[in-house]
Amino acid sequence: MVEMKEYLVSDLERETCERFNSVRERIAAATRRSGRTPDSVRLVAVSKTQPPEKMRAVHRAGAREFGENYVQEAVAKRAALADLSDIRWHLIGHLQRNKVAQALGCFGLIHSLDSVHLASRLARLDETAPVEVLIQVNVDDEATKHGVAPQEVEALLDAVRGIVKVSGLMTIPAPPMAAEGSRRSFARLRELRDDLARSTGLELGELSMGMSDDFEVAIEEGATIVRIGRAIFSERVR
Ligand SMILES: *Cc1c(COP(=O)(O)O)cnc(C)c1O
Repeated sequence: MVEMKEYLVSDLERETCERFNSVRERIAAATRRSGRTPDSVRLVAVSKTQPPEKMRAVHRAGAREFGENYVQEAVAKRAALADLSDIRWHLIGHLQRNKVAQALGCFGLIHSLDSVHLASRLARLDETAPVEVLIQVNVDDEATKHGVAPQEVEALLDAVRGIVKVSGLMTIPAPPMAAEGSRRSFARLRELRDDLARSTGLELGELSMGMSDDFEVAIEEGATIVRIGRAIFSERVR
C-alpha cells in the first residue's frame, strides 16, 4: 500500500489532475458566460498516441469519455483498460470502410460519418440498436479534409436517417491564427444545425466542436461536446 500511495502523489498523477481540473473549470466558466450550465457540455479527452497508463491517470482525475482517431489503436487501448468499464469511447477520426466491423464493437459515438455508403455499412453490420453517429461537416470547405460540404448535409441526413441514429454535427475548422478565428466556423455549424433541425424535424442536439486552443469559443457558440487532447495530456507523444 505504501507503494500505491507514492504512486498516487507522483508528479504525473498530480500534474494530470491539475490539467484536467483546469480544463473542467475553463469549461464551466465558458458555460456560465453563455448562460448555460456546466453539464450542458461533455468533455471528451482525446487520447490519440497516449499510452494507457496516462489514460488511467486521466480516468482517476475524473474523465469518463475518451476520443481516439484510429480504430486499431482504440481496440488495443480498450483491451489494456478493460478493467475500467465505465469509459465511453468516441471515434473522432475518419472511419475507413474496412474498419467498420471493428469500430462497431468499440465506440459509443462515431463523430465522423460523411457518406451514405459508410452509414449503410454501419447499419448492415449492426444487428442490435442503430449506431449513434454525428455527421462531420467541412464548414470551411477545405479541399484536404474529410467531412461533407455544408450544402450536402441535408441530402446525407435524408439518406441515412432511417438506418443510423444521427445525434448532431461535428466539425474541425481550418487551423486559425487564434481561437477567435474559429468563431465564425463554429457559429456556421450551429446555424446549419438549427436550419436542419427545422427542415428535417430531427433534434440534432449535439454539436461536437472545439479543441485545446479554441474550446471556450466553441462553447460560447453552442458546443455540446468538446474534444480536448493537449490541454489535458500535455504535449502529444510522438
Ligand atoms: C487531435 C484531435 C483533437 C484534439 O486536439 P488538441 O489540439 O490536442 O486538443 C480533437 N479532434 C480531433 C478530430 C483530433 O484529431
